[in-house]
Amino acid sequence: MRRTLLAAALSLLVALPLQAQQPTRIGDAAMTQAVTLRERALADDTGWKVVESLTTEVGPRLAGSEADARAVEWAKAKFKALGYDKVWTEPVTFPKWERRSESARIVGAHAQALHVTALGGSPGGKVEAEVVRFESLEALEKAAPGSLAGKIAFIDYPMTRAKDGRGYGPGSRVRSGGPSAAIRAGALAYVMRSAGTDSHRNPHTGITRFDDGLKPIPSAALSLPDADQLARLVALGQVKIALDLDCGWNGEYTSQNVIGEITGRSKPDDVVVIGGHLDSWDLGTGAIDDGAGVAIGMAAGHLIGTLPKGQRPARTIRVVAFANEEQGLYGGRAYAQKHAADLRKHQLGAESDFGAGRIYAFAAKTPDYAKEAVARIAQALAPLGIEHREDGEGCGPDLSPFNAIGMACAGLSQDGTDYFDLHHTPDDTLDKIDPKALAQNVAAYTVFAFLAADAQGDFGSAPKPATP
Ligand code: ZN
Ligand code: ZN
Repeated sequence: MRRTLLAAALSLLVALPLQAQQPTRIGDAAMTQAVTLRERALADDTGWKVVESLTTEVGPRLAGSEADARAVEWAKAKFKALGYDKVWTEPVTFPKWERRSESARIVGAHAQALHVTALGGSPGGKVEAEVVRFESLEALEKAAPGSLAGKIAFIDYPMTRAKDGRGYGPGSRVRSGGPSAAIRAGALAYVMRSAGTDSHRNPHTGITRFDDGLKPIPSAALSLPDADQLARLVALGQVKIALDLDCGWNGEYTSQNVIGEITGRSKPDDVVVIGGHLDSWDLGTGAIDDGAGVAIGMAAGHLIGTLPKGQRPARTIRVVAFANEEQGLYGGRAYAQKHAADLRKHQLGAESDFGAGRIYAFAAKTPDYAKEAVARIAQALAPLGIEHREDGEGCGPDLSPFNAIGMACAGLSQDGTDYFDLHHTPDDTLDKIDPKALAQNVAAYTVFAFLAADAQGDFGSAPKPATP
């Protein structure tokens, strides 16, 4: 009997701290307000106007280029024009990579031009050599050291199409890992079938990297039809190509994360953070990657900001246009570093960086005490055709460094079925965005940000040691 009492007392002691954590709640008034905002957002074209303005007036904005600085000025001015209460910038420094010219051609009996683009981070150089084709990164990694001496390595791996973009993992590894594997086998240069799913004669660029201790070699991507053509020629016999890249690293550059805030009603120091990345690759105008994400965040904050001050959410809506995502999450990492001490003040975060297709799923990884509030957000999103999923895919690239050290995050998954037809190509232009789908995205982010910012209680942001 005494043992039972003791055990009961002990279990009570153990249970007490858990019971002290009140469930996070979202009230009925907030739900009503969210419905009003959602319907207003669906009928509003602010998101479209913002992405039209960015892609038209700034155009392509390669990190570190002249257009990078214009994009920063554009973002500051746009936040102000959209009525944001606070607008500021935070510096982000990174090495600057430049693309000057690029060409490739088949030489000899079947002479003809190939459509290529240099991979970001590639050095320049002129190489004329025989091509050796590999079906996958794994196949090239198995090539014996020195076996490609005097040759050009070619990986012809076809990326698969998927709504959730899962083909991009293996596809982009061919881009990030191929050049180092080629160097280890002794190759003079590297070419790859683009990490893309289209059938156009557009190569897809994107960042690559070289493992420490290796001397970088010129590295480029072929359009998919050009990769097919090269594969057919290789099947006929020995093929030589001449690759001529003029590009490379050139000093350092300091850009800015541009931040706008709609001040909260009663807890203005606490924030819900949304946004996208301001930089783009240089071949298109960066409409789907990631003008759309910047526009969705800016428009969502703007719509919440149009509410009378007394009806604003309790916490602040912070929209971040991140610098240089493309070349290594520089803006996202700078943000995490600068705001680490304020991590607990970050209620919840989500970044849009997967185009402008409709959002079809919502998920947030939170402690149990916040699950009821997450379900309420999901309930307000459901009429937009968004299903609630238990398991999320994270919260976008630029918030992943902050999520890694403890910020609670949510994911709003976009339909990316055609994303990799356009991604990092000259075809990434405004006409590819469906204004209605973009408005659905704005509506979803508006609802999400408003409800998360007005919740009573938190979603579990707490510092944790970074995982390497
Ligand atoms: Zn992106
Ligand atoms: Zn990108």
